[in-house]
Amino acid sequence: MDYAKENKALILFDAAYEAFIRDETLPKSIYEVEGAREVAIEFRSFSKNAGFTGTRCAYTVVPKECAAFDSKGGKQLIHPLWNRRHCTKFNGVSYPVQRAAEAVYSDEGKAQTQELVAGYLKNADLIASEIKNLGYDFVGGNNSPYIWIEGKRDSWEFFDMLLDKAGVVCTPGAGFGKCGEGYIRLSAFNSYENVKTAMARIKDALA
Ligand SMILES: *Cc1c(COP(=O)(O)O)cnc(C)c1O
Repeated sequence: MDYAKENKALILFDAAYEAFIRDETLPKSIYEVEGAREVAIEFRSFSKNAGFTGTRCAYTVVPKECAAFDSKGGKQLIHPLWNRRHCTKFNGVSYPVQRAAEAVYSDEGKAQTQELVAGYLKNADLIASEIKNLGYDFVGGNNSPYIWIEGKRDSWEFFDMLLDKAGVVCTPGAGFGKCGEGYIRLSAFNSYENVKTAMARIKDALA
């Protein structure tokens, strides 16, 4: 927040994976950090907690006091600009999808999405422990549905090998830019049974 204020920067915070945070010392929203309302915009999504990927429904938090600075150094409030932009260019979310988003906040919806997320975290645990047993360094799997593995080789080479030998599709780290080179990402978004099968195949492929 201090950096943003000193440098007149705007923070764009993507909270897509907020539902996966279990560590209570980690913030789930940037607005838990003091001063964030003046310098930060937060993106919220239903894609990962409620399986909304592709339905095009999400929301953006733009606090009324949030400001950015124009090329002349003039302070501009973002809220009215965003409102203008949205009223002019956005035609809305289809009604059935809106009703589905509403259901995410019902008691039943909350229970179901929590169960879903807990299941993905259980998958992530299994992936992480199997990868650890195979002697690979990794990050993630905690507070996150992804496991980043240091592949000890080119990330596309690792991708091809897993596809050919294990029939498993991963995400090559190089696709995220040069810092991802050498890594691959495994996702926990599947059934526990499928994750078990995939990990058994990966084990054979890497043996
Ligand atoms: C999936 C994902 C989103 C979700 O975007 P939607 O448009 O709501 O589907 C946003 N950010 C990240 C990093 C994601 O992985």
